[in-house]
Amino acid sequence: MAENASEHVSEVVENELRELELYARNLTDEQIANPQVSIDLFSTVREKNTYNNMSITSLDGTCYTKDGNQVNVAHREYFQKALAGKSNISYLLPSKNDGTHVNVYAVPIIRNDQVVAVLWASVKTENFFESLGLSGFEDYGRIFLINDEGTLISERNMTDDSYNFFEFISETGTPNEDSLNAMKQDFAAGTDGYQQFCYSNQKIYMYYTNMRVDDWWLLIRIPKATLWTFVAPQVNVVLAVSAVLAVIASIDFVMLYLHVKKVNNKIRKNAYMDNITEGKNDLYLKYNLASYLNGESQFALVSLEVVNLNGLVNVLGIQTVYQMICSLYKKLEEKMGLGEVVVHSYFGEFKLLLKYTTVESLLKRIEQIDAVEAKMDFIMGVYPIESADVDYEDMCSYTNVAKGNLLPDCRYGIYTKELHKKEVEQVQLEESIKEGIAKQEFKAWFQPKYAMDGKNIIGAEALVRWYKEDKIIGPYVFIPLCEANGLIREIDCLVLEDVCRNLQQWLREGKNPVPISVNLSRNYLDEPDFIHRLENIIAVYQVPRHFIEFEVTESAMVGNEKKLKETIDALHNRGFKILLDDFGVGYSSIKTISDLHFDTVKIDKSFVDGIGQEQWDNIIQYTINLSKELNMKIVAEGVETKEQYEFLVKCGCDIFQGYYFDKPMDEPSFSALLCNVTTHV
Ligand code: C2E
Ligand code: MG
Ligand code: MG
Repeated sequence: MAENASEHVSEVVENELRELELYARNLTDEQIANPQVSIDLFSTVREKNTYNNMSITSLDGTCYTKDGNQVNVAHREYFQKALAGKSNISYLLPSKNDGTHVNVYAVPIIRNDQVVAVLWASVKTENFFESLGLSGFEDYGRIFLINDEGTLISERNMTDDSYNFFEFISETGTPNEDSLNAMKQDFAAGTDGYQQFCYSNQKIYMYYTNMRVDDWWLLIRIPKATLWTFVAPQVNVVLAVSAVLAVIASIDFVMLYLHVKKVNNKIRKNAYMDNITEGKNDLYLKYNLASYLNGESQFALVSLEVVNLNGLVNVLGIQTVYQMICSLYKKLEEKMGLGEVVVHSYFGEFKLLLKYTTVESLLKRIEQIDAVEAKMDFIMGVYPIESADVDYEDMCSYTNVAKGNLLPDCRYGIYTKELHKKEVEQVQLEESIKEGIAKQEFKAWFQPKYAMDGKNIIGAEALVRWYKEDKIIGPYVFIPLCEANGLIREIDCLVLEDVCRNLQQWLREGKNPVPISVNLSRNYLDEPDFIHRLENIIAVYQVPRHFIEFEVTESAMVGNEKKLKETIDALHNRGFKILLDDFGVGYSSIKTISDLHFDTVKIDKSFVDGIGQEQWDNIIQYTINLSKELNMKIVAEGVETKEQYEFLVKCGCDIFQGYYFDKPMDEPSFSALLCNVTTHV
């Protein structure tokens, strides 16, 4: 029973912390900067989770309670742990607001790998105790949660926040010393056990079991007398040595056994219940999988994941998203056949165990699930289970591999050995890129931009190349992966640094450099400190700002216009020019572009490729006219022929970039061009 309870407690605590972490990730900079105003945000979640309070705390420990009181929690251990980046739960504390006894969940709010504030939520300790599902034990005696130093974490009615179990026992007198030492030894070794203690003229048994949360222990205090009431009937029966009574005794034993089983089931039920859907959870599937895989049918494990969950929470609020998840769970449950099961394993992720006979029947089954009407978009990763011996965690990681490799035009992917191989290669590539970043193997190449006369170089674009051993690798090999794993930020910074280093060198050599445009990936444009990072790099090399421009692709704007506008304004205010790259590939209107104050629009190569066909010619002319009206300059990229160049000149295009003039080149070749501008037309 205690083992079940231990698993359940860790599940409850982990779920709460994960939920808070999700909140922390979704907080806007404004909300973090104004913790006092943000209190109202939490009213729904406070109610749902019966939190006593919930608050954002600044780095100096200042926070506000729901009643508007300002308190400081800088010295609280939970706050300090969260500051150090660790999500955690406190032991029993008197609330700084009203003295209520609470336990506090605390998680770091992280932006750009730095803790910028702490989000915490407090629960009245009696509610906390209740939520852990420990009440089932109370039939036996008093239950405590303590840590391995004896500090009280929770007890239903305990209000003494300085209570320490070890101190309490020590103070009762010497007869308990041996038991206490034995107990401490067990704690140190992480071994469950029990000891007999004596206090208040009572003999008591103290059973203890190690919990899976931090250094927590569950203590069950059973007075010897109570224990006796459990076993006395049986003992009396034995003493009476009566055959008839022996029968009754065995009935008593059966009753005791049934009682234990009932309590055990109650705990198990809690342990397997998902808090959001009130259906089954991941633990259920993990521990019952073997009983489903009966050997008679083939099974597939499917991970179904709601996409853009953070966005949904931001737009609709957590409460609505909870309801949507519950409704999706019910719909999926309706689709389950005999011997199949669905669980809600993690916020927005479901696992389904489906039966199938042939690959065709499996695909049919997946398509049935795919057709489930849901208000949320989702993707699925399917792992056809090869053997019941495969570890559950491995099965889950195979479904994740499948999710990362969706079939063309499908919302699902199916795990195969080839995918596994690809995955391994990706991991190797990622490691190798990380190494390359550390060794600064990523360098800028330069592709000149020409003025309308086709003679004067008036700028250049920096394009990254990876100098890996004796090879020079182009961006298509590593950029998609780096955009997915976030390493692109490091690469862009290395390119900017290389550009600055070169500009500094050219200026020192007395050359006449031109502005260089550096590509910024959309992935980090909304991160608050990235502009500082760019500025710091530029400051180190003391490059005048008009030599640096930034290119942002059109796809960066999707659903992100407000934030992007702020970023672009901030860059403008610091004296940088901004180009809209690949214009025409996305769907943004000229109006959106003008609202965003781009200085220059770069017409994508795919437009230029269309030159010579009437409708493309018209589109290009129209785009150029409009951009001019909005006071933006026009660059055409991917200009490969004389005809394209001449047509663009006729349309009034200002700047030209493409193989017709120059391919991207390394620094020595480009710097040679800088001193010696030649005619190309
Ligand atoms: P982009 O920013 O649109 O860069 C233009 C790409 O078109 C470059 O390819 C360039 O070599 C190529 N190009 C230029 N003129 C012509 C032409 O006349 N014909 C043809 N066929 N191609 C031409 P590259 O260097 O392979 O870069 C590809 C993309 O990779 C870039 O497209 C950009 O999206 C990304 N990229 C390159 N360097 C960086 C970087 O430092 N940071 C980031 N975030 N992305 C980069
Ligand atoms: Mg570009
Ligand atoms: Mg481009």
